[in-house]
Amino acid sequence: MQYRKDRYGNDLSILGFGCMRFTKKGTGIDIDKAEKEIMEAFNAGVNYYDTAYLYPGSEAALGEIVERNGIRDRINIATKLPQYLISSRAAIDRIFAEELSRLRTDHVDYYLMHHMTDVAMWEKLKAVGIIEWIKEKKASGTIRNIGFSYHGNTDNFLKILGDYDWDFCQVQYNYLDEVSQAGKDGVRAAAAKGIPVVIMEPLRGGKLVNLLPEGARKAMKESSRDYSPAEWGLRWLYDQPEVTVVLSGMNSLDMVRENCRIASEAEAGSMTEEDLKTLEAVKRSIWEKEKVACTGCRYCMPCPKGVDIPGIFRCWNTMYAESKSQGRFQFAQTVGLTKEPAFADQCAKCGKCESHCPQSIPIREKLVEADKALRPLPYKIGINIARAFMFRKARG
Ligand code: SF4
Ligand code: SF4
Repeated sequence: MQYRKDRYGNDLSILGFGCMRFTKKGTGIDIDKAEKEIMEAFNAGVNYYDTAYLYPGSEAALGEIVERNGIRDRINIATKLPQYLISSRAAIDRIFAEELSRLRTDHVDYYLMHHMTDVAMWEKLKAVGIIEWIKEKKASGTIRNIGFSYHGNTDNFLKILGDYDWDFCQVQYNYLDEVSQAGKDGVRAAAAKGIPVVIMEPLRGGKLVNLLPEGARKAMKESSRDYSPAEWGLRWLYDQPEVTVVLSGMNSLDMVRENCRIASEAEAGSMTEEDLKTLEAVKRSIWEKEKVACTGCRYCMPCPKGVDIPGIFRCWNTMYAESKSQGRFQFAQTVGLTKEPAFADQCAKCGKCESHCPQSIPIREKLVEADKALRPLPYKIGINIARAFMFRKARG
């Protein structure tokens, strides 16, 4: 196993165990199976275990396994506050106490504000006193590092990152999300501030393994490497020194062994030009199915009317490269539910963006098509109701 440093110089294994996908047994978790997988990872040097209040049964299962094996002092536990459910300081105290009890511990090593997508969510937490709460917990040693997990766009990520003295952050990042979500710019900005970056969805929820188009598989096969699709995805991440820990939701011993092997071999800066060309061919093959040739370069931004042009195009493309529901889900997360509306129908057709687009995309025309696809009437109504609810709560 290889290790990289956290903000205070502690060693973190570059492979983290994501505890969201433990195998189910009946209505609960198959504890014995999960225990074997966790101990296999632990014995191979994995010292970072990521769970959350909202992963059903996960905190309690992890707590039980850790206690049974007496390894609490030799691992780091990361868990999360479901911040979108919080409306008072008392609720934070209640949930955190429940998490400690489920985890059978008196402290959390890495504690995250779960699933932030917008700076407005952070403002809402500040309004209920989260900063004082964090200060108290860190002073008492109950929380050792504070961070946030993030699924919105790059701009909001940078705002949240810059607004507080975070110890770490967790982002969705993989070779397909290089310019979306927090993206490469977000990962590099965090690293430049000395903030460790934990990666989730390194294989896009399995898409970069199970749903690769034929052309992508062919590009991998024709390369000089004998890597599996998962290995290509993980090595692309480990190649970047800005990445600290890569989480994998491991639910078989084979997967644990394979991921531990990769994490013991893949070094930062070890991908060759040929490797990167292979991944470019893989990405091209995935993008061939897409609707608009937007590269996410953002030269068209900012739009004076606030339209998130690259964000909308990326979600539209995802509808065709992955699935309609995935594209619309990502749209809701990264565009639809941001505090400042960024919808295509805000476009005033000034044309400013088109004069900057290196791909010569007829942006105004494509935005109209994208909006129709991403927001058919029922989705539009759903997003409007969710916005009204979220931003009413934010004010209250
Ligand atoms: S044409 Fe529309 S999307 Fe482009 S800059 Fe003007 S208002 Fe924004
Ligand atoms: S300038 Fe063109 S390619 Fe770049 S993000 Fe905007 S629309 Fe996409």
